[in-house]
Amino acid sequence: MSTTADPRRLVPRTDRVLADPRLQDASARLGPDLVKAAVVAAQQRARSGELAPDAVADAAVAALPRAAASTRPVINATGVVLHTNLGRAPLSPAAVEALVAAAGYTDVEFDLADGSRARRGRGTLAALADAVPAAEAVHVVNNGAAALVLATTALAAGREVVVSRGELVEIGDGFRLPDLIASTGARLREVGTTNRTHLADYADAVGPGTGCILKVHPSNFRVDGFTSSVDVGALAGLGVPVVADLGSGLLVPEPLLPDEPDADTALRVGADLVTGSGDKLLGGPQAGLLLGRTAVVERLRRHPLARALRVDKLTLAALEATLRGPRTPTWAGLHADPDDLRRRCDALAAALDGLGAEVVPSAGAVGGGGAPGLELPGWAVALPTAYAAALRTGAAVVTRVERGRCLVDLRCVDPADDARVAGAVRAVRLPGADGA
Ligand SMILES: *Cc1c(COP(=O)(O)O)cnc(C)c1O
Repeated sequence: MSTTADPRRLVPRTDRVLADPRLQDASARLGPDLVKAAVVAAQQRARSGELAPDAVADAAVAALPRAAASTRPVINATGVVLHTNLGRAPLSPAAVEALVAAAGYTDVEFDLADGSRARRGRGTLAALADAVPAAEAVHVVNNGAAALVLATTALAAGREVVVSRGELVEIGDGFRLPDLIASTGARLREVGTTNRTHLADYADAVGPGTGCILKVHPSNFRVDGFTSSVDVGALAGLGVPVVADLGSGLLVPEPLLPDEPDADTALRVGADLVTGSGDKLLGGPQAGLLLGRTAVVERLRRHPLARALRVDKLTLAALEATLRGPRTPTWAGLHADPDDLRRRCDALAAALDGLGAEVVPSAGAVGGGGAPGLELPGWAVALPTAYAAALRTGAAVVTRVERGRCLVDLRCVDPADDARVAGAVRAVRLPGADGA
């Protein structure tokens, strides 16, 4: 490039840059605004002398976003299976396929056989009912909190929700179940103490003003020591509806997680309604699951609020495929074989020859409000701490920093991505290290 001319005069005009076939294609794929913004930014760099004027189109192409939405896929190398900040459960390929297929016009609420309106999401509801034999009826809303709001509104607005003081949980991001319940117009009637609540505490509180008893699974903390709580089965004898908020979304018992309550068992022992999340242990999309007695579920389904909490067709499709389809990535993360993890970590460390990588034991966690304190045995590749920020900001690989080391835990990484993780680590140039 000539260095004598004023570079601002040589910067190509926007319409000329946009004529580049690569940017034309990108416009069709991403929309014109994102492409134009990349061009304008590249022109700006050329005007400031940072870029040669004839490199504007190349720079704009390089700076194009990967997709029209800004959400960026990340590799979860934290060892935490359900990481709320990373979007909780990753969908199975079957669920992804189902939601892509549902993205256009669908028969979500239409009967193709006779051309009439049909029950919305009937296939999904049937799959959920099939998965939980003890459920007489089921309904699906937007998330677990919505399920709880719908249940307490329909059963107890203007009346009391009886709940143990040991179960007044903060679920995350500052949101607390007692506030959520109060927001429905139900009054919270707290019984018992933080560590111990007895059947008599509930029995004393139950009366004509009771809307329901709420039994909340303390899914994200544990109280040890001098404790007692009352089972759903015992509460079922008190003559008022019992709602069990399980949170985890576990539908049937999971041998790996013996302390996690499941919907089928809770209904068998007498709960009238069970609520849970779709994107926790079930491994599906964000959704609120409601399962229980027909009369109760119908009451919720017909409540005006149900329309405001209605779940979309993409969720319905992904949820049905999760329920009917093959085992989920969440299941794979929970059940990852330690020997297999060890082999993958050895291979990764070998691929990082010379970077001081070391294979160390690593305890994975269920996370996302499930099985607190449970350690899933496994392995990780340990690197100097500075890698954590570099991997996160570079290739969007999120690791775990523990005891002054960056742990790359492959438990939740698709084995097909192991090579990408190795490449991302090798691409890191730490400030101060010699960049050979
Ligand atoms: C996670 C959780 C909720 C909230 O469910 P979301 O799907 O996150 O809205 C409610 N109750 C309990 C016990 C939970 O663990």
